[in-house]
Amino acid sequence: MHADPSTAAMPAPAETRFITGLRCLRCGADYAPAAIEYVCDCRPNRGSDLGTLDVRYDYAAVARSLTPADLQADPDRSIGRFWPLLPISQRTSLPPLPVGGTPLLAAPRLRRQLALPNLWLKDDGRNPSASFKDRASAIAVARAQAAGRAIVATASTGNAAAALAGQAAAAGQATVIFVPKSAPPAKIAQLLVYGSTVLAVNGSYDDAFDLCTEACLEFGWYNRSTGYNPYMTEGKKTVSYEIALQLAEQSGATAHDPNRLVTPDAVFVSVGDGCIIGGVHKGFKDLLTLGWIDHMPRIYGVQSALSPALYNAWRSGAELPAPLHATTRADSISVDAPRDAVKALAAVRETGGAYLLVDDSAILQAILPLARLGGVFAEPAGAASYAGLLQAMHEGLVQQNETIVVINTGSGLKDVRPWK
Ligand SMILES: *Cc1c(COP(=O)(O)O)cnc(C)c1O
Repeated sequence: MHADPSTAAMPAPAETRFITGLRCLRCGADYAPAAIEYVCDCRPNRGSDLGTLDVRYDYAAVARSLTPADLQADPDRSIGRFWPLLPISQRTSLPPLPVGGTPLLAAPRLRRQLALPNLWLKDDGRNPSASFKDRASAIAVARAQAAGRAIVATASTGNAAAALAGQAAAAGQATVIFVPKSAPPAKIAQLLVYGSTVLAVNGSYDDAFDLCTEACLEFGWYNRSTGYNPYMTEGKKTVSYEIALQLAEQSGATAHDPNRLVTPDAVFVSVGDGCIIGGVHKGFKDLLTLGWIDHMPRIYGVQSALSPALYNAWRSGAELPAPLHATTRADSISVDAPRDAVKALAAVRETGGAYLLVDDSAILQAILPLARLGGVFAEPAGAASYAGLLQAMHEGLVQQNETIVVINTGSGLKDVRPWK
């Protein structure tokens, strides 16, 4: 059973009616939601070797209570409108700082530049704390509050922490944050201004992660850390729901059949721990299971050549990535031992996508066309997805007429340090 002694005495959070349980993606064990909180103990719980859990739903019941037409008609554009597909008991369980509903931009000048007439930019820099991580942190705060936990903690390269700090501030929830000392000043400023207790760890993100895990076990804090908390994938998957809804609206498909959403051919996303790409995959899988889309997109994960753990594993066909020493300047994707590796590798392998490797110089260069032709100022890790698209075009992996979505995961204002 679960190795975490601190959870035994905790009340189980009120569950959504639609969650049937959690399944370990390593050993296949099934758990009732109240029986486990983070990871299955079938694995040593170190580095990438975690008993990662997948949250399972009664999709037939969801489909009886929610339709794409309901979602299109909902005046609430935040992730709250997806609540039956989230690990919360009601929409109002989320913190009162709306997340999601970010724009899907046509970016006509970028389209012309690349000769890709069906290119879209999903700008997740336009979340309350200016990164994609708000989608997951909203869920973390909702669950901690439902369980009556006094403190939520996380390890973070910066954005997950800022997102947690902002969502927690709005909800009146205390937080303790473990970040590597090297995190960009703007990200640390966000934490302090939002009122978090910040522990700047003299070490890497991976060191911060291990310290946070131990502190949560010791003190009974609720642990948001990516890859370890299975519910973070559930927040992150909402980006795929939005993309399919927005493409349906934009293409006019909604007018034709309000219960059909539209899948892109390819999605590009930058990858560190692998939680976002796993969430993108889960979101489209949910829609396919619900019968709202009829095929999956190819999912492309983009890594820096200076942080290539998942690319290497994909390339060699390994089950798990081998840890390495990541040094990329794109701090949000600088990860030695990716924690959400199982979901991250499945996302690419099961959809016929690929992992792509880009140099730090290509990441830096990608910031400029996004801003100068698209009007989107991305942080380095956010622009990496665009650099990945260019690499995919170079490798002949995309066709000119395909519908392609590039996700910007974070605002450029997060990190304006000169590039060394
Ligand atoms: C966290 C983050 C990523 C990578 O997400 P993972 O889930 O760690 O793969 C990419 N870009 C930005 C801006 C991020 O904050």
